[in-house]
Amino acid sequence: MDGPATTTAIEGAAAPGQTAAGPDGHGRLGTAAERGSARSANRAEIVSFEPATGAEVWRGKASDIDDVVARARRAWPAWAAQPLSTRMELVRRFANEVRKDADKLATIIARETGKPMWEARIEVENVVNKVEVSIRAYAERTAQRKLDNALQGTMAVRHKPHGVLAVLGPYNMPAHLPNSHIVPALIAGNVVIFKPSEKAPATGELLARCFNRAGISAAVCQIAIGGPAEGQALVAHDDVDGVLFTGSANTGITINRKLSSRPDKMVVLEMGGNNAMVVWDTPKITDAAAIIVQSAFASSGQRCTAVRRLVVKSGMYDAVMAEVKSLADRLVFGAPFDEPAPFMGPVIDNIAADGLTESFLYLLSHGGRAIKHLVRPNDSLPFLSPSIIDTTAMKDRPDVELFGPILQVIRVDDFDEAIAEANNTRFGLAASLVGGSPQEYNKFWANTRAGIVNWNRPTISPSHAAPMGGIGLSGNHRPTGYYAADYCAYPVASGEIEQPRAMIGVGLR
Ligand code: NAD
Repeated sequence: MDGPATTTAIEGAAAPGQTAAGPDGHGRLGTAAERGSARSANRAEIVSFEPATGAEVWRGKASDIDDVVARARRAWPAWAAQPLSTRMELVRRFANEVRKDADKLATIIARETGKPMWEARIEVENVVNKVEVSIRAYAERTAQRKLDNALQGTMAVRHKPHGVLAVLGPYNMPAHLPNSHIVPALIAGNVVIFKPSEKAPATGELLARCFNRAGISAAVCQIAIGGPAEGQALVAHDDVDGVLFTGSANTGITINRKLSSRPDKMVVLEMGGNNAMVVWDTPKITDAAAIIVQSAFASSGQRCTAVRRLVVKSGMYDAVMAEVKSLADRLVFGAPFDEPAPFMGPVIDNIAADGLTESFLYLLSHGGRAIKHLVRPNDSLPFLSPSIIDTTAMKDRPDVELFGPILQVIRVDDFDEAIAEANNTRFGLAASLVGGSPQEYNKFWANTRAGIVNWNRPTISPSHAAPMGGIGLSGNHRPTGYYAADYCAYPVASGEIEQPRAMIGVGLR
């Protein structure tokens, strides 16, 4: 792969490095060297900050990974031996604990990520709703099956848990996304080590506490505080049976490489996207603009399924882009608890904001034409305005995931060209067609390479009742969502009969 796939800074743009910042209140960890020495002397300190203010939210020591894994290993047999009904009951109690702490959890999510409070509340609802969905999915996808086989007895298909699973979470939905792995993993009889993003440890801690208060012990669902170093230690640990990862393609590829000689481990990689939305003939320009703006700028563009590239039919271009710009101009960006509520908050930190700014300038200086400039009202905070840039004239558009509020627009003349443009990426997470006829949608669906292909719907907010995953650099063909049950347990086929019954039919002397 050439260069980083997920970034806030296009390679070649004079962006700051990928190491975290120093003590200016906006960095998250020390440099790699500082982290290394702190770990060997005593464990590294993890600190999270409010993107909206720079204020410290949480501070604590990184976990000792060997200890955490040993505790999980000891807890696994008893948890796996619990009846399925008990494990289901306990995750339902977890949902109740989250309901009780809903305000607190939403507040901490909003503080640590900077997303508006209304959006943090939706994330909490998603955490709760995931429980019943996961119970249904377990029953449907990994239920026990018995096939009667007359004289041969029974052929049974049952599922077993893998053992100790490490869940590595991203910062953008720091409760809902790890939870989408944790709940199905626990139902299936695995014990879980949950390492939240180093940018959202307080959210992770509160989520883990809800599991523990529900009666799922701190050894069965255990939190491991840490950053990349602790993530690497979990991935490399011999006593970890699987890694369920949601995060950037760069990290996912690193994990994949690390485990390339370990086919025995379950590896689930949910990664980013460079998602396209194609706009074709439609009289409903206002609705189209709302779909585009939601898809590109919700969560300040910090969604894996966000639209990065808008592919617009030439004949529609002026009308669509005028409406999109006018709507984007009206979006309020502000702090999570502002009243009236903003549409979107800041990006996660100053490093991300610097990188996105440099990336916008890179696009501008390589043939892009700004339709709406990226504006950063305060250099010391990571608030960024929505931005739109026409990159049709660019020779080589960098195929990277710009994880922020930057929408690139490409103008095309015919539908085949639009599909080719949508597929012009190494990623394959989400794509959407807005407008067009049923025949055009059929063609779009059949020819677009992505795990989510929508029609007249945003690319974001996929359904819980559906699988969620991508191809290319977006995932390793193990979708989460409704299909998470599949990777949380392995099938065992058993031919069974109460007494031995056999004879050799051919070839006896
Ligand atoms: P990230 O890759 O930086 O970090 C994710 C997790 O991996 C964190 O817990 C981090 O500490 C850990 N980690 C980092 N380096 C590691 C290493 N070398 N070994 C093991 N663990 C390591 O991702 P992020 O910036 O927190 O999240 C944003 C990214 O996540 C975006 O690319 C976004 O598209 C993606 N994402 C994907 C989905 C999906 O479902 N496909 C959903 C949300 C976010």
